[in-house]
Amino acid sequence: MTSESAKSFSGLETPGYVGFANLPNQVHRKSVKKGFEFTLMVVGESGLGKSTLVNALFLTDLYPERVIPDAVEKSNQTVKLEPSTVEIEERGVKLRLTVVDTPGYGDAINNTDSFTEIISYIDDQFERFLRDESGLNRKNIMDNRIHCCFYFISPFGHGLKPLDIEFMKQLHNKVNIVPVIAKADVLTKKEMLKLKTTVLDEIAKNGIRIYSLPECDSDEDEEYKEQVRQLKQAVPFAVCGANTLMEVRGRKVRGRLYPWGVVEVENPDHCDFIKLRTMLITHMQDLQEITQQVHYENYRSERLAKGAPPPPKRNTIIDDKNGALNDKDRILQEKEAELKRMTELLAQMKVQMQQQ
Ligand code: GDP
Repeated sequence: MTSESAKSFSGLETPGYVGFANLPNQVHRKSVKKGFEFTLMVVGESGLGKSTLVNALFLTDLYPERVIPDAVEKSNQTVKLEPSTVEIEERGVKLRLTVVDTPGYGDAINNTDSFTEIISYIDDQFERFLRDESGLNRKNIMDNRIHCCFYFISPFGHGLKPLDIEFMKQLHNKVNIVPVIAKADVLTKKEMLKLKTTVLDEIAKNGIRIYSLPECDSDEDEEYKEQVRQLKQAVPFAVCGANTLMEVRGRKVRGRLYPWGVVEVENPDHCDFIKLRTMLITHMQDLQEITQQVHYENYRSERLAKGAPPPPKRNTIIDDKNGALNDKDRILQEKEAELKRMTELLAQMKVQMQQQ
């Protein structure tokens, strides 16, 4: 990478700093007030460095009590999903980040169970949101839907494994998949380029839809356009993770120490770590919008097409502040709920008519 291209990412290279406080002003003002809620899922065989990377990305120890099971435990276990939530604050901007890790994936003898477990976790979050949205306290819904899924690919193979292809196909209608090549420090520059090309080819050949960065508006400034161009070019991001701080040429860096030198995690010449983080931070809103407009809508319409009953009606109507709502509010809310049921019924009828 040239020094010019490295410059585009220099703003985020300050150690001890994630960078979401650098979001464009408009988004910033909104988020200062509300704070972000963002959920990231990391999927991939165990041992690929998922936890190390996530801790390094958010400069926090998300898994302080993690126990790594032995081989026998591993082959017996089904995948166990572990959501961990941290609140990070930078320059007054709050981020409530939930990371859902999938330890054990790829260890069990039968991976079909792992798939099912992960898929149903994603669906459960949609279902919860759907229920809350049709409930009465719509203003304070907690959004636990998965906004982004880092899919870890092994650097040791020659591309995607059949397991990866099958699983990505099951995931792509439900989440924004961002493919990530793990442990990039084991690859030479040439090997990395070759693996990236193969992975992209296989993704295209198998009709897998991954998250694609939106085109820039023409009036966007040139530096931002260049940054997005470089981010697009880096997919699938080849990353290394480490949580050890060491000193290199008088600077404190996060790195992996080898007999022949140090791999610096946040050095764009060494791996795509900074690019992956920049992509995530600068596109958090887009990832949330696509989750809402595409993946959640898919879920909702599929559910209606199946003719599933609407979510259960709540019996008690409670107001957060006063404990009970006055009659006028109750009537209004009942009318709203009725209207929603009618709309859903109409949508169901439309689907049935199309099927006939
Ligand atoms: P997970 O099971 O996918 O969460 O993997 P871990 O984060 O627990 O890492 C598994 C092992 O790989 C540990 O020994 C890490 O130190 C090592 N590791 C993590 N990231 C990297 C990396 O980028 N490169 C290399 N070579 N090893 C890594």
